[in-house]
Amino acid sequence: MDKIDLRCLNRQELTQYITELGEPAYRAKQLFRQIHKHGAADFQQMSDLPEALRVALAECATVALPRVIDRQVSAAEDTVKLLLELADGERIEMVLMLYERWQAHNRATCCVSSQSGCAMNCRFCATALHDHFRNLSAGEIVAQVQIADRLAYQMGFAGITNIVYMGMGEPLANLAAVKKSLELLNDEEGMNIGMRRITISTCGLVPKIREMAGWGYQIGLAVSLHAADPELRRQLMPGASRYSLEELIRACQDYREQTGRRVTAEYALFAGINDHPSDALKLANLLTETDILVNIIPANPLPEADIEPPDEAVIEAFCQLLQEKGLKVQLRHKRGADIQAACGQLRRRQTPSGQQD
Ligand code: SAH
Repeated sequence: MDKIDLRCLNRQELTQYITELGEPAYRAKQLFRQIHKHGAADFQQMSDLPEALRVALAECATVALPRVIDRQVSAAEDTVKLLLELADGERIEMVLMLYERWQAHNRATCCVSSQSGCAMNCRFCATALHDHFRNLSAGEIVAQVQIADRLAYQMGFAGITNIVYMGMGEPLANLAAVKKSLELLNDEEGMNIGMRRITISTCGLVPKIREMAGWGYQIGLAVSLHAADPELRRQLMPGASRYSLEELIRACQDYREQTGRRVTAEYALFAGINDHPSDALKLANLLTETDILVNIIPANPLPEADIEPPDEAVIEAFCQLLQEKGLKVQLRHKRGADIQAACGQLRRRQTPSGQQD
């Protein structure tokens, strides 16, 4: 029989589980704090629980964290990429980004994966190259943050302050587990990470964006746009193009209205593909009348798909054109590219040379 992963259970479920074992409900509270506040990976570490209960739990349940099987640190020592192995042998990557003295305090952001691959088939993204993958559980998502939290402490930071769901996978294609992970991470008896410090990125699954808006949480929303021309977007993002650009922008505006959070559109610049001044004009046209913020990301190379960033001058001209048209534009600082930890570079396997297969 598979052991139940207690990291997946919220306080209410854990209480039910514990009382069914014939234990008093307050034990569930202790257990929840051990798992979600202290990041315990082993029942034996839980010194506030009686030995007999620890042994009984170990027989039928688990709180084990995924094994870190590779760790790469960028030359600037501000980005760490981890390759994790899950209980069933499935592998995922996640990234820790450290920002010293960011707006007067230190920020440590954890970029988590929500699936061990992706079905969306964006032709510029390394994660799309896997054929088989699965959804991650809420516990497996929370575990990534806990592993990063511990690492951030070891590197002199005060733990994880921010989370972005921008790793492997499409979070909105695994929305139930993603929602539960958010609630677990936000729980005041656990890591207590504010919803405003969490951002979810999606390729644009419109009905799911609307579902998210209905939660009433103040989570940041980022939408991977990458093209303002329907035909070009269909070629670049076949899975995401089920919904029209108009529907997508309307859903973003409604999200903004319902949550009060401004939405970001991510636009990666792929040399010779979507970086022409006419592409900038189409983007400006699409977003005019909205207060969507544009995040420009110079492409991270994907040799398999001939994806390269444009020259610096092209990037600058593109941003300038958007600004002239009245859009709010941010140029995303590239980090972690030397260890293939930048946007769209996460995959499951890594050869020792740093070359990937
Ligand atoms: N599936 C979600 C979450 C992934 S976030 C989404 O699509 O938003 C990863 C971000 O990196 C997305 O914005 C994705 O479009 C972007 N990306 C993928 N490949 C890239 C590349 N080669 N260069 C720059 N950004 C890329």
